[in-house]
Amino acid sequence: MTQQILVLPGDGIGPEIVTEAVKVLDALRDRHGLDITTVEGLVGGAAYEAEGHPLPEETLQMARESNAVLLGAVGGPQWEALDRPLRPEQGLLGLRSELELFANLRPAILYPQLAEASTLKPEVVAGLDIIIVRELTGGIYFGQPRGVRTNAAGEREGYNTFVYSESEIRRIGRVAFETARRRGGRLCSVDKANVLEATELWRQVITELHAEYPDVELSHMYVDNAAMQLVREPKQFDVVVTSNMFGDILSDAAAQLTGSIGMLPSASLNADGTGMYEPIHGSAPDIAGQGAANPLATILSVAMMLRHSLGAPALADAVEAAVGRVLDGGLRTPDIHYAGTTRATTAEMGDAVVAEL
Ligand code: ATP
Ligand code: MG
Repeated sequence: MTQQILVLPGDGIGPEIVTEAVKVLDALRDRHGLDITTVEGLVGGAAYEAEGHPLPEETLQMARESNAVLLGAVGGPQWEALDRPLRPEQGLLGLRSELELFANLRPAILYPQLAEASTLKPEVVAGLDIIIVRELTGGIYFGQPRGVRTNAAGEREGYNTFVYSESEIRRIGRVAFETARRRGGRLCSVDKANVLEATELWRQVITELHAEYPDVELSHMYVDNAAMQLVREPKQFDVVVTSNMFGDILSDAAAQLTGSIGMLPSASLNADGTGMYEPIHGSAPDIAGQGAANPLATILSVAMMLRHSLGAPALADAVEAAVGRVLDGGLRTPDIHYAGTTRATTAEMGDAVVAEL
């Protein structure tokens, strides 16, 4: 059956990088028999300008009818003064909650061809290939009650609620164990079980779930230690699973280990395998419209889409291998360019990947 992909270019460099990723999808359809059709929609600032809302009902409806969503990036300085419900970023949050995208997968890979561009010691990061599985729809970012109030002493106090149900922990745990099973077979669950009851339950439920995945080696780590270990010896990890806030922080730290924001993809999945795929970077308004954006994070997000939503793992491998060969050939957008390599535009990079497919 033909699978539908909703393409949401968004703002800033979004349209430029998504154009290159769609070239890759088109090539897979035309040359490799991938049975897909693409539809395009508005989100973020672009949607606000056209429809007065960052997430128009029409976009939401197309998202519900699609097997996967490919997103560029949203936001920009021109919309920063808008009220909260109209901000471009609300478009993203709305899609996450509407589609119940509870599992956020963020690989942090250091490409050997880019090792020279990294500012970290080679022995610490060479060959780095880890993935952080972050719970995305629960925890302290959504817990009720929350707010700012006046306390008994008459001063203002802010408060949030860190809450996880057993079923929320179990479903993210399953995604993590399955991911570990497909990869190196090791899973580290990160919590603060010594201080926070919600994460004490987190540790218990993950431990119970382990009985169903005896082939996966499970370890637990407190988040403070995990942050330290991640920068001290990142290669000790394979798959890391953690709650919403801890994952937010750890995945940005992990991304920085690779030194190249333009290279890192992400997937956000729901229970049916529908997913939203996007680069981890933002809309980069400082370089928009110059043909200087690196499209590889978005193209690698297509690879994740093939693997997690479209049931085409061999094609996912093919896209990743094609990216590797393009880097081998020395082609580089400005963000990863250094002496001895060849400078390329956004479009030249996308064309090169297509040529390698
Ligand atoms: P957001 O809040 O949406 O994450 P941000 O301002 O924090 O946005 P980015 O938009 O990711 O961050 O930009 C951070 C820096 O990285 C900018 O200098 C930008 O030009 C650069 N950058 C981001 N994405 C790319 C890319 N694909 N190729 C090249 N440079 C990029
Ligand atoms: Mg940012």
